[in-house]
Amino acid sequence: DAVDISLKDIDQLAKSSFPLCMRHMLDKLRENHHLKHGGRMQFGLFLKGAGLKLEDALAFWRAEFSQKIGSERFDKEYAYAIRHNYGKEGKRTDYTPYSCQKIISATPGVGDHHGCPFRHFGEENLRAALNKMGVGGHALEEVMDKVKNRHYQVACTLTFEATHGVSCDSGINHPNQYFSESQKVLR
Ligand code: SF4
Repeated sequence: DAVDISLKDIDQLAKSSFPLCMRHMLDKLRENHHLKHGGRMQFGLFLKGAGLKLEDALAFWRAEFSQKIGSERFDKEYAYAIRHNYGKEGKRTDYTPYSCQKIISATPGVGDHHGCPFRHFGEENLRAALNKMGVGGHALEEVMDKVKNRHYQVACTLTFEATHGVSCDSGINHPNQYFSESQKVLR
């Protein structure tokens, strides 16, 4: 039942099935050919949890980062950390992807793109991002209302429901759960 995502599917899957936090980081990575540490952890572990294999993960990050710093520097400074996340270096801990709760309680600084957009975006940016996902009208106002009351995961659940046309009774509590629920609906 697990969907293993491959390198060539990432952009298409992001559009159909990634939660807003992960779409945002993919956009920023494509735009800047870079993500800071917090983003590399949050997004990298999500991709791992979604089934992206280590070799594909290395190719994915290398393709972006090398456009900015060259592949030699990527291999020297960043590849280790990616293998590390996959439990292939250091203490060989198999790191698990972050839950919504952990992501929501992050404190992204200037130039960081990790965190939860429902929690960390300003209202205008959040509205624009939701519009881009096709959430508008009454559904958008409902989402914004949950955000105002600090019910970020409920806002994300309503976003899921609005974009998939189904109800999500369990509620969203993990980005990888969002992804797999979405794939269940769409496949
Ligand atoms: Fe991501 Fe969870 Fe925030 Fe949704 S509620 S955007 S899945 S962190």
